[in-house]
Amino acid sequence: MTLRIEDLAERGLVPPERLPELRRVAENFAVALTGDVAALIDPADPNDPIAAQFVPRTDELATAPEESGDPIGDERWSPVPGIVHRYPDRVLLKPILVCPVYCRFCFRREQVGREHALLSPDALAAAFDYIRAHPEIWEVIVTGGDPFLLSPRRIVAIVKTLDAIPHVAVIRFHTRVPIADPRRVRPALVSALAAEKAVYVVMHANHPRELTEPVRQSVGRLVRAGIPVLSQSVLLRGVNDDPAVLEALFRGLVAMRVKPYYLHHPDLARGTAHFRLGIEEGQNLVCALRGRVSGLCQPTYVLDIPGGHGKVPIGSTYARPGRAPGRWIVEDPAGEPHTYPPDVSDPD
Ligand SMILES: *Cc1c(COP(=O)(O)O)cnc(C)c1O
Ligand code: SF4
Repeated sequence: MTLRIEDLAERGLVPPERLPELRRVAENFAVALTGDVAALIDPADPNDPIAAQFVPRTDELATAPEESGDPIGDERWSPVPGIVHRYPDRVLLKPILVCPVYCRFCFRREQVGREHALLSPDALAAAFDYIRAHPEIWEVIVTGGDPFLLSPRRIVAIVKTLDAIPHVAVIRFHTRVPIADPRRVRPALVSALAAEKAVYVVMHANHPRELTEPVRQSVGRLVRAGIPVLSQSVLLRGVNDDPAVLEALFRGLVAMRVKPYYLHHPDLARGTAHFRLGIEEGQNLVCALRGRVSGLCQPTYVLDIPGGHGKVPIGSTYARPGRAPGRWIVEDPAGEPHTYPPDVSDPD
């Protein structure tokens, strides 16, 4: 079941008088919620963190000067349709530009949920030819849109084709389906991922309330099939910009056997200024987790540099050069500085 704007008013998730302006938002950026995520929203809470992620608002119609239709510069790295080849050893393969839900902060919001949402068979074949012709490609990241919306038959075709390319060692799927529509992770989908090569799944999750029992079961089906599952989250004002929320999110994921991989600083996508926080604020949030939660629960805080320059870690550094060459000052999780190597004349 997919909910659109009109259904949101029916369910009391937006007041009917706001429908005309929200239809204007929907003309610019696709809107969809699944029944699963809609059920997580508390209609009585105007600041509900699930509603903030999926229910459109008129703030999206304002474009800040620093925002862009291609915030991470994918276009300049796209040699053929459906492929983004920015790093030498890995490519993105985008066979589908449809999602089960449309996240209001999405960095690809200008591409997803529009016409021509499926890569044509010819274009897909050309994308595979590109991968075959580039022996430096070690990993293929199947993303979109959401590749788990493809039928198991199409997923099998993609996995088998990549599995047969000798230089491809790793196949990675990026998906929101385990959270947005967990029952879609059925045995047929799980077995479609079977390959000789390593297959990883990276699921997108932003708030601990997304981690329901059906989500836990869908992850369990993947993990029991031998597929390592990682997560990526986006740091968002009004959703998870709170150390206690991040702690609950990452603990919840790890307890489901999901390793938090990346925490993304929000990208400069059009109409997303209301979600953005400063890098310093992000660093402070991430620092608050250090020492407080297990290392398993610590993703890398990253920024995708606008213009297509790539992703880099932007967490604060704990080590800085000391006074003498080879000597360092290193901060512990509580913020106390220590010299490294320890000063023998002055043990601390
Ligand atoms: C994010 C991204 C990747 C994957 O990067 P990792 O750091 O390996 O997760 C690859 N290609 C492009 C274009 C990307 O944006
Ligand atoms: S699921 Fe991913 S690609 Fe789709 S709208 Fe959300 S962030 Fe964008």
